[in-house]
Amino acid sequence: MTGMTSSARPHLNRRLAAFGTTIFAEMSALAVATGSINLGQGFPDTDGPEEIREAAVRALRDGRGNQYPPGPGVPELRTAIAAHQQRRYGLSYDPDTEVLVTAGATEAIAASLLALVEPGDEVVALEPYYDSYAASIAMAGGTRVPVTLRPQDGSFRLDLDELRAAVTDRTRLLLVNTPHNPTGTVLTRAELAAIAELAVERDLLVVTDEVYEHLVFDGAGHVPLATFPGMRERTVSIGSAGKTFSFTGWKVGWVTAAPELVSAVRSAKQFLTYVASGPFQYAVAEALALPDSYFEEFRRSMLARRDILAEGLTAAGFEVFRPAGTYFVTTDIRPLGEKDGFAFCRALPERAGVVAIPNAVFYDDREAGAPFVRFAFCKREEVLREAAERLRAM
Ligand SMILES: *Cc1c(COP(=O)(O)O)cnc(C)c1O
Repeated sequence: MTGMTSSARPHLNRRLAAFGTTIFAEMSALAVATGSINLGQGFPDTDGPEEIREAAVRALRDGRGNQYPPGPGVPELRTAIAAHQQRRYGLSYDPDTEVLVTAGATEAIAASLLALVEPGDEVVALEPYYDSYAASIAMAGGTRVPVTLRPQDGSFRLDLDELRAAVTDRTRLLLVNTPHNPTGTVLTRAELAAIAELAVERDLLVVTDEVYEHLVFDGAGHVPLATFPGMRERTVSIGSAGKTFSFTGWKVGWVTAAPELVSAVRSAKQFLTYVASGPFQYAVAEALALPDSYFEEFRRSMLARRDILAEGLTAAGFEVFRPAGTYFVTTDIRPLGEKDGFAFCRALPERAGVVAIPNAVFYDDREAGAPFVRFAFCKREEVLREAAERLRAM
């Protein structure tokens, strides 16, 4: 994929040749070297709930999870994940056969693709993509087929006809991400229903990345694809504790799906990490059972930060696509007289003391992504205000 810088790498095999180092490493190094505010990579600058941190400490002290946990994940966490899906979405999963704990959503994505895609199969994914998708599809020997979200009335939208046209006899699965990183788009119920109909009609598997399920700002909230008719049996739903509980370093993710799908994904997963994050699994089990007030307060505080950054970027002259979900704002830099997001982001630390990510790294079609730049707002309000001030002064 284009997201990576590719210097000469004689040892890296052909499948991965395009995936040298991620842009995040380059931009984070630049942030450190220039003392810039890093709104590039999406990690919070404050940790999640104290009581959940304490739950992890307790697990460590009590000797829970310090040795290899069970392959599918500790029973307490699998039960908590099933309860969460039931309570939020009315989806019922058997914790023993339909839930799998993974090393973050990243491993869940990789294991799903490695398990379900045959070499040569086509995987249809929404472009711009989260950067691990392209690499995981490549590792599975699949071919990625992008369907590009395009700007329309202030947000990036999916063209359903384009999606239909992208499906061929070689298509094995649809890889869907909503709320969508980097655009902040939340697919509407009608869009999701159309995706579901297409999947049923063409007998496709669907892998859905729902790591921002608790960060939907406007409207009805998150609707999992697995809730649509005919979808529960063909959908691998992926969640993660990292974004929802502000512990991105713990790397606790999960898959919920029908038993045959979970069993397939587990086969791949067991030879990637086998298991991970032992004590943290117990803590995340407690986190998932936090009262609704936690999730509401988390969403409310991120919404306030979205507004601070979105208003700051607007004041600085960017065109802002106000995100309906996630913790990223995508902007168009053309109103600033710029058109190359890469050059803009490489110069921004020197010019303004702020780091952002060029969206082109998330595109096969670099041209389509060229004028867009992504800023993360999962930072303290004073940090966002300072960044906004620096950008305005630029
Ligand atoms: C952060 C992120 C992930 C990775 O989640 P981890 O649990 O940290 O592995 C996956 N998908 C999207 C869209 C993300 O933004």
